[in-house]
Amino acid sequence: MTARVLDGQALAMRLQDEIKPRVADFVTTHGRPPGLGIVLIGDDPASHVYVRNKVKAGGDVGFRVDLERMPESATLADVLAVVDRLNQSPVHDGILVQSPLPKALGPGAQQRVFDTIAADKDVDGFGAESVGLLSQNRPKLVACTPAGVIQLLERENIPIRGRHAVVIGRSDIVGKPMAMLLLHRDATVTICHSRTPDLPAVCRQADILVAAVGRAGLVTKDYVKPGATVIDVGMNRVTDPAVAAQLFPAGHPRLATFQAKGSVLVGDVHPAVDEVAGALTPVPGGVGPLTITMLMMNTLQAAQARVEAGL
Ligand code: NAP
Repeated sequence: MTARVLDGQALAMRLQDEIKPRVADFVTTHGRPPGLGIVLIGDDPASHVYVRNKVKAGGDVGFRVDLERMPESATLADVLAVVDRLNQSPVHDGILVQSPLPKALGPGAQQRVFDTIAADKDVDGFGAESVGLLSQNRPKLVACTPAGVIQLLERENIPIRGRHAVVIGRSDIVGKPMAMLLLHRDATVTICHSRTPDLPAVCRQADILVAAVGRAGLVTKDYVKPGATVIDVGMNRVTDPAVAAQLFPAGHPRLATFQAKGSVLVGDVHPAVDEVAGALTPVPGGVGPLTITMLMMNTLQAAQARVEAGL
């Protein structure tokens, strides 16, 4: 059996096509586009790539996108001042501060920054108010990656109600909000983490298995109940030839990519899982593209809510 591929890239493009006319209507009605303010602090190369993609995606759907770049030496007060200015700005409906923040800002700084973003502009859904509302099943702006996973499951007609969902990972940005969204859709949810004994046995109970770990190929065939839906959130850049050889058999096209480039992007799910799973998200082209699309959805939603509130 070969798993059905859950094509996140194709869904992301369909969703963007749905967003564009809604943005055009917004501009016609309100005389301005939805506005997104992005704050990027420091020199982390991966963050620069993510932000570039977000700026482009926002422009593509017709948003105003303003990028505030701050030096690695910025203080917490500097960052909070920029967030506060964006909070007050009438033309910005969404605010995103790219994480991770530089370590020099100190422990707790990142959450303090997230909590300072006005709740009605918290398009990443990481602030305490957004998290609390999600926890109470009164979601307003929901973290983009787990929201994208739900879009994918729902649009692919994968039943959630009454199913057993196992989420590996308990981070604030993926694992926990993912578990909440599944719980509120009446799944029975188990959350696993690095201290979970016999992880494969727990995962084998899952009808829906979500891996959000950050360990290349951790989820092997023995973790998966035959026919289960497997969602691979992980994004891991493999540079070790021995790891690449464990993931891909000789002659596999991805191994050729590795040999040509010296690295390959892989998920937390071993590619051989497609022999057992009923449906599986690829990496790349699964959850990743949906994350940015959900950021666009959240920004449009925030803009609509703000104009309805007369802001
Ligand atoms: P994170 O904050 O590092 O959390 C990882 C979680 O995995 C933790 O809860 C950790 O457990 C658990 N874990 C680590 N090793 C484990 C093991 N051997 N067995 C079981 N659980 C283990 O990571 P994250 O931010 O949630 O991201 C997870 C992955 O998703 C990363 O690869 C990241 O790049 C990717 N990601 C992708 C997108 C996307 O758009 N596709 C978005 C966000 C993140 P403890 O809590 O016990 O330490």
